[in-house]
Amino acid sequence: MKRLHTLALGLALLLTSCGGSTTPVVEPGGLAVVGAQLIDGTGSDPISDSVVVIRNGRIESAGTRDAIAIPTGAEIVDLTGKTIIPGLVNLHVHYRGSPEEIESQFRTQLYYGVTTARSIGSDSPESVAFLLEANAGRPGAPRTYTAGLGFSHPNGFNASGRNAPTTEEEARALVRDQVDLGVHFIKMWVNEVAEPGLKITPEIRAAIVDEAILNGAIPVAHIDDEADGRQLVEAGLRDFLHSTVLTFGPGAGVPVENPEPSQEFLEMCLENGVSFTPTLSIVQNRWHFAEQPGLLDDPDLRAAFNPDALARLDDPANRATVVEAPEFEERKAAFRQLQDFVKTIHDAGIKVALGNDAGTPNVPFGWGMHHEMALYVDSGLTPMQAIIAATATGAGQMPPVGEADFGTVEAGKAADLVVLNSDPLVDIQNTLDIHQVMRLGEWIERSGLLPTP
Ligand SMILES: [Zn+2]
Repeated sequence: MKRLHTLALGLALLLTSCGGSTTPVVEPGGLAVVGAQLIDGTGSDPISDSVVVIRNGRIESAGTRDAIAIPTGAEIVDLTGKTIIPGLVNLHVHYRGSPEEIESQFRTQLYYGVTTARSIGSDSPESVAFLLEANAGRPGAPRTYTAGLGFSHPNGFNASGRNAPTTEEEARALVRDQVDLGVHFIKMWVNEVAEPGLKITPEIRAAIVDEAILNGAIPVAHIDDEADGRQLVEAGLRDFLHSTVLTFGPGAGVPVENPEPSQEFLEMCLENGVSFTPTLSIVQNRWHFAEQPGLLDDPDLRAAFNPDALARLDDPANRATVVEAPEFEERKAAFRQLQDFVKTIHDAGIKVALGNDAGTPNVPFGWGMHHEMALYVDSGLTPMQAIIAATATGAGQMPPVGEADFGTVEAGKAADLVVLNSDPLVDIQNTLDIHQVMRLGEWIERSGLLPTP
């Protein structure tokens, strides 16, 4: 308490001296958050005693206390001892259900500091219209991007209810239908299924990529094979989901013989500015909660969890079938290969964003984003690198690519912030220790945002 008083006095003196100047540096008003450690998402060193000035929903200035003038008349919030990171950006979610259910998924994300999300391939035309309202900055929702309905081979992976063209012409027409709805991305599943012949064909993939680009949408593909990755980069695609290590379909969960991507492919990705969103949680969560059921004692996590999946995990018999399965250790070894893939491509300088397949049964919205960051650190990234993947890198993948006005705490960017009680650079799990969340310059009232059982 004494410390707060001293700080307040210091600030009052600072304000007095600013107010006494005949040439004020900045216009009056706004909000100044002072004293926190700032991790701005750019990769710069953290600033231990920062000032962030916010006005009209935007960051007006951010930096060290010495460098940043606090505007006359600004409301000052002392965040000494806290850490500020940018609002989190999840590049891989699947919204589910009615608008009311999606609203609940929005609220859960905001509770956990996820201020931007990309919905990637399962949105009906009605959902697209609803999500586009959230993209425009509707209160109570993260900034939302959508890929509408994705593309697959008829009878292929996730083909049911999706676009499943049989000719290039049909593929192009279906891409235009999605673009007419206003989608930002075009998603396709190009991954292993029961029979290789059921994979979407290279010719149709190329037509989808080409038509998407022609119409101003960004093509995105789920891959698990390097040859497919090469073909898609040659066709013009720059945004991959998952990895070149098998994560779905027959054979998934078994270590592969040559898990490392080739040098040739790494160079191809680097030269073409390709990004990956590897999505570790969707693989690990097949067993993670069964192995560590204590995690589910957290009431916030329980609230965020899919109720049916939670009921299954609450049953010890169900958990036993997972952890006592003969292939359990093999699954973990296969997952380690996936984590090694993340480390390899990150070390090669390839853009690694963060997305977790939130909305699938064992991957909860909100909480799951923090878990995915922890999995990146477990893969060998530093906490700083994981935070950048979860903020600036993801933001850079949204249209217009590389020009995001959010995802970092810098002058001119949208004021989306997460304020943490403890230091995530010491332990990445501390990103879950949230003090406050700001979306477009407004503090979010977090209580009551999570669904009640
Ligand atoms: Zn997905």
